[in-house]
Amino acid sequence: METNHELIATVVKKVLSEMIADRIVHTQGPTGIFATVDEAVENAVAAQKKLLELRLSHRDQIIAAIRQAALDNNEKISALAVKESGLGRYEDKLRENILCATKTPGTEDIQPRAHSGDDGLTLVEYAPRGVIGSLTPITNPTGTVINNTISMVAAGNSVVFNPHPSARETSALTIRILHEAIVRAGGPPGLISCVAQADLNTAKELVEHPKINMLVATGGRPVVNVVLRSGKKAIGAGAGNPPALVDDTANIRRAAASIVNGASINNNIFCTCEKEVIVVSSVADALISFMLETGKVYPLTPAQADEVTRLVVTPDGKINGAYIGKNVQVILKEIGIEVGEECRLAIFEAERDHPLVWLEQMMPVMPIVHVRDVSDGIDFGVKVEQGNRHTAMMHSNHVEYMTAFARAVQTTIFVKNGPSYAGIGMGGEGHTSFTIAGPTGEGLTSARTFTRVRRCTLVDAFRII
Ligand code: NAD
Repeated sequence: METNHELIATVVKKVLSEMIADRIVHTQGPTGIFATVDEAVENAVAAQKKLLELRLSHRDQIIAAIRQAALDNNEKISALAVKESGLGRYEDKLRENILCATKTPGTEDIQPRAHSGDDGLTLVEYAPRGVIGSLTPITNPTGTVINNTISMVAAGNSVVFNPHPSARETSALTIRILHEAIVRAGGPPGLISCVAQADLNTAKELVEHPKINMLVATGGRPVVNVVLRSGKKAIGAGAGNPPALVDDTANIRRAAASIVNGASINNNIFCTCEKEVIVVSSVADALISFMLETGKVYPLTPAQADEVTRLVVTPDGKINGAYIGKNVQVILKEIGIEVGEECRLAIFEAERDHPLVWLEQMMPVMPIVHVRDVSDGIDFGVKVEQGNRHTAMMHSNHVEYMTAFARAVQTTIFVKNGPSYAGIGMGGEGHTSFTIAGPTGEGLTSARTFTRVRRCTLVDAFRII
C-alpha cells in the first residue's frame, strides 16, 4: 500500500507532467503575463476603467469565477509551489488555497454607509484606488495571489503582481489561471497580471511606476520599507516572530495539540506560525509530554538541539535559508536522525538567549523556554515579539492573564486557546488574509483596505423618516 508521502509524490508528479504537456507554465500573450512592467501597467489601467463600467452584480460573478478557478486548479498550483520554491507541504498548500478562495471577502466588504438627518442624506462609499502594485512572498506564492486578487478586484481595482523570483512560475501560473477565469466571466483582460521574469529590477520599476496608485508589500521588513519610502499610499505586511505563551491555568493537553498543529502547518512558513513556546515552569513537563502524545513531535536532546542549531543558524547569526520550509525529516537527517513521516515538528528546551527564540526560523524546529510565572512570561513574550505587532498566542483559562498579555504585546492577531492559524480564519471565526498589515495597521486586509473613502452629500433631501 502506498504511504501518504508516496501518494502525495505521485499526485505532484502527475499534475506537473500534465502542466508541462499543456505548456501551461510558460505561456505568454493575452494571459495576464506580460513582457514588461510598462505593458502590464498600461493594460491594468485600461482594464480597471472597464471594470468600473460593469455592474456590481457582474463584479460578483467575476469574484465567484476567481474563487472557483482557484479551487479547480488547487492541485496544480500547490504542487508547483512546493516544487519551485522548495518550501512547505503540498497538503498544507491545498488548505491555504481553499482558505483564500473561500474566506476572502468579496464586494460585501465595501457596502456603503449612509447618514440621513435634517440636512439631507450623505453617502460614504468605498471607491477603488485604481491600479495596485503587489509584491508577493516566496512563502505563499499562490495564497497571496488568490487572496489579493479577490480583495483588490472586489474593491474595483486592477493589480500588477511582482512575485518573488524564486516562486515566479508558481505565481505566474496562478495569475494566468485566475486571469482566464476573469476573462471567461466577462471581465477585462489585463485586470490582474505580472511580468514573465519578475525580479528585483521589475519590483523597482513597479514601485516607481507613475501609473501605480497604491503599493502592497507582503514580505520581510526591507520590502515593507521600500514601499513605505515610495511616496505612494502603501500597505506593509511584514515579518513576525509569534510567541505562544502557556500559563499554569491552561488546558495543557489542548495547548500542546494547538501548538504542534499551528507550528507545523506548512513547515512553519506562515508568518503567523508559532515560532517559540514560552511556558510557566510548573507545567512545562506536562506540556512537553502532551506534545509527544500527539505522535507528531521529536524531542531533541540538548546535544542534538545544539547540532540542529549549528545547522540552521549561520555563524553570523542568520537563518540558513537552505532549511527554511523543509520537512522535519530533511533537517533531522542532516544530523543522523531518521524519523517517520508522521513526525511534523522537532522540539527542544532552550535558554532565553537561544538564537531560534529570537529569529524567525520558518522551519519545524521549536524552542521551548521556561518562565517563572505568568507575568515573567508576558514580559518575555513581549520582548521576543520584538515590536513586530504581528501575532501572538496564549493558552490560559484566566481571562485577566489573557487580557494582560494581549494588551502588553499589542499584536495584530492574538489567538487564545487555539493554533495560530485560527487567527487567519482556519478553524477560527472571521475572514482570512495572507496580507496581514501590521506595520501600517490595516490588520487582516480585505477589499475595504484597497479603497478610498468618499463622501457624497445630498442637501435637504431624502430624509424620509
Ligand atoms: P522577502 O521580503 O524576501 O520578499 C517579499 C517580496 O518582496 C518578494 O516579491 C521580493 O522579490 C520582494 N523584495 C524583497 N526585497 C525587495 C527590495 N529591496 N525591493 C523590492 N522588492 C523586494 O520575503 P519572503 O522571503 O519572500 O517571504 C517571507 C517573509 O514574508 C517572512 O518574513 C514572513 O513573515 C513575511 N510574510 C508576511 C506576511 C504578512 O501577511 N504579514 C505574509 C507572508 C509572509
